[in-house]
Amino acid sequence: MTQFTDFGLAQPVLRALEEAGYKSPTPIQAQAIAPAMQGRDLCGIAQTGTGKTAAFALPILHRLAETPRKAIRRGCRVLVLSPTRELANQIAENFSDYGKYLSFTNTVVFGGVTISRQEKALANGVDILVATPGRLMDLIERRSLTLEAVEILVLDEADQMLDLGFIHALKRIVKMLPKERQSLFFSATMPKNIASLADQYLRDPVQVAVTPVATTAERVTQEVIFAHTGAKQALLNHILRDPVIERVLVFTRTKHGADRVVRGLEKVGINASAIHGNKSQPQRERALAAFKDGSCRVLVATDIAARGIDVEAVSHVINYDLPNVPESYVHRIGRTARAGANGLAISFCNDEEKAYLRDIERTTRQKIPVGAFPEGFTPPSRQEAADNAQAEERRPAPHGQRPGQRQGQRPSSRPGGRPGQGRGFDGRGGEGRGGENRGGGRPSRPEGAARPQEPRGDRRPASAGEARTEPRGERPRTPRPQGGGEGRAIGWLDRGPRS
Ligand code: AMP
Repeated sequence: MTQFTDFGLAQPVLRALEEAGYKSPTPIQAQAIAPAMQGRDLCGIAQTGTGKTAAFALPILHRLAETPRKAIRRGCRVLVLSPTRELANQIAENFSDYGKYLSFTNTVVFGGVTISRQEKALANGVDILVATPGRLMDLIERRSLTLEAVEILVLDEADQMLDLGFIHALKRIVKMLPKERQSLFFSATMPKNIASLADQYLRDPVQVAVTPVATTAERVTQEVIFAHTGAKQALLNHILRDPVIERVLVFTRTKHGADRVVRGLEKVGINASAIHGNKSQPQRERALAAFKDGSCRVLVATDIAARGIDVEAVSHVINYDLPNVPESYVHRIGRTARAGANGLAISFCNDEEKAYLRDIERTTRQKIPVGAFPEGFTPPSRQEAADNAQAEERRPAPHGQRPGQRQGQRPSSRPGGRPGQGRGFDGRGGEGRGGENRGGGRPSRPEGAARPQEPRGDRRPASAGEARTEPRGERPRTPRPQGGGEGRAIGWLDRGPRS
């Protein structure tokens, strides 16, 4: 088995890895580190959670250590492009961690915060710049940054970059880079458009791949519970009363849906916060920090916002809504079972979402076991649910929103959507992936999908899950959040009567 010491990485890097407690390279690291250290281009299919950040960060740090030289003014030696702020921050943190015994400069820039501080940080040049494409273009246009001396380019989560509408920014950025450079390209999936982008940008790349696309994380136990829309909130409230659920990510398809779920939880005294693209950067950072330090155990997120969230010990993922893009399901459930822990992913599925469920099962080539309602849970009748929904509708609209209009929804759209409807769009110039489509509702622009004009999507966050293969047919068990131990089964999973 390969060890980190086998690669010949610079001593300060090895020391940092030892301190981080990394015993051996992950599969993507085992494949990528050696060729990247030699300066080869890489084309990697890997998702968040596979250790892909270290797969590019370690060889980059090694190369910087081998060729120390000062970055030019307003320039950088390494440019890492990330689709979202959260991921950008995480990448920069990883560089700081792995490079703590090296002297290099490292800065991260993204939109939604004052640009002047970023300009100041770049004035003397930096070794490593991690950036989202929109803000990077702003800085270049303001002549606060030049890309003429970039030696290494990393394109992380290329598929997300395209989904978020960054293609034009990306093309412009790459044109400004020196032809002589090393390029490392990572994507969770490799559809044709990404592969052709890789072809254009990479020279004789080494291909590395760790997991087949759309397989689900091996340590995640999955379960689907059929519940009509009006029963979902009560079901969630019931499940989250169990203290065994220590840190849970709840996914909704829309920003408005996320806020609604948080309100529903707060009504029954469960502290929760939402993270999505309508939240300001400080709000998102606060929510994430509280989730990380355990002061808030429930984080409700949209797909895009959850991208890049790398929080250890997420014991449970709950899909309040099923995603209408099967790959999002894989990404979502990959948020749990990280760092060797086991995880449990529970999906609520209403009648309209059964089509999504079929798509997910087809894509992952797995049947998700059907679970019963938790013991002691009585779902509200459809009438009660309808009354609750009406009361919710009567709530004053959030600022700037007309009554009855959902956040992120255009005022005029076709009535009577159906599941799958949002999928005809590519998420790049309008509506579609991840858009609101609440059983018979109308699809709206998905969070993170760029508007048709020049993308400035780094106002909207995102990230990927990971994927490995899940052995089939196991009964759901309750995982302990850390260290791979399996926890005691909790009551509601011990099969209450199915109502
Ligand atoms: P990434 O896929 O880069 O988001 O990494 C996922 C998580 O795995 C991060 O929390 C890393 O700190 C951790 N990690 C990366 N490489 C290793 C390794 N070789 N051994 C243990 N943990 C790792």
